[in-house]
Amino acid sequence: MQNILIKVNRAKKVHFERAIFISWYCSLGDCTYCYMSTQKGLISDPKKAKRSTASILAEAYLCRKLGWKLGNLAAGYGSYTHESILELVKQVYEIYGGKFWLNIGVLPEKTIAALKPYLEGLYGAVETTNEKVHEIVAPNKPIRPIENMFKICEKYNLKKAMTFIVGMGETIDDFQSLKEFIAANKVDKVVFYALNPIEGTMFEDSKGPGIDYYLEWMRKTRENFPDMDIVAGPWVNRIGHISSMLNAGAGSITKFPAIKLFNTRHAKTIEEEIKNSGYILEGTFTKMPKIDFEEIKKLDMDETLKNNIVEKLGLYLKKMKKTGSLLQIKVNQES
Ligand code: SF4
Repeated sequence: MQNILIKVNRAKKVHFERAIFISWYCSLGDCTYCYMSTQKGLISDPKKAKRSTASILAEAYLCRKLGWKLGNLAAGYGSYTHESILELVKQVYEIYGGKFWLNIGVLPEKTIAALKPYLEGLYGAVETTNEKVHEIVAPNKPIRPIENMFKICEKYNLKKAMTFIVGMGETIDDFQSLKEFIAANKVDKVVFYALNPIEGTMFEDSKGPGIDYYLEWMRKTRENFPDMDIVAGPWVNRIGHISSMLNAGAGSITKFPAIKLFNTRHAKTIEEEIKNSGYILEGTFTKMPKIDFEEIKKLDMDETLKNNIVEKLGLYLKKMKKTGSLLQIKVNQES
């Protein structure tokens, strides 16, 4: 018994970082790997493309109750104004009960200064450090403004995260440029996505990167940056490799559509993968949370908004109960 306890105490913890999508709008809309680039004509009005505040807040509350970290609030460039993002971030901070990250493009210093009390850090959607590949896949999202934003983050003591999509045409020789970028910008966290080919984009016929190649990026990053916060962001088709991702150096996972696939066989696979590799998952993908609706009613928010949050939460919980009976979803499609 004592031996078991010692083993458990020594096991490393792994957490899930939930990215909450807050708008379908993007003023760029032309990154050649991105789902938004296939929807540009349908999402031209930033106001109409915004997700409802109640649904965002209900999801943030669920993160807290399920033991997930609110990884970031995510949206395309130009989807929120200074005032609207400040208001939303304050509300999320209150219902989630802690700081989180923001991934909504390059922000001006005035906005960063106002958001600082509620944020752990900001994301730069770098995607690749191979300049030629970057020019093709993100023609209007240059890296220099992201680096400038990182400098402002330093001024305000905010952490810096970057996204990196493996499989867009780079090779492992490009690791050197990633290494230099991380060092030059003192990046605190890297999220490694494996390219998920989206229909209607230039990658629709691609199969995405091989798993060993994807793992190699994390392994090299861990070797070179022992203290780096490395996040694995595989789509559902790769969750059977999560233990390899953890062994390659990832300390947490993201991207899994954890509400949509709550308590499905995919959710169970992740939990087993983590357990079988000797790690402990913080939170759950399979056990329904205990929700105290009175807790929401006590929040210092508009009464209508609180009622709407309760209503949305009810819908999410219903969906999560139902998904427990589903066997699988098509793993090659985005949710
Ligand atoms: S900036 Fe982001 S959301 Fe906009 S098209 Fe590029 S990847 Fe997609």
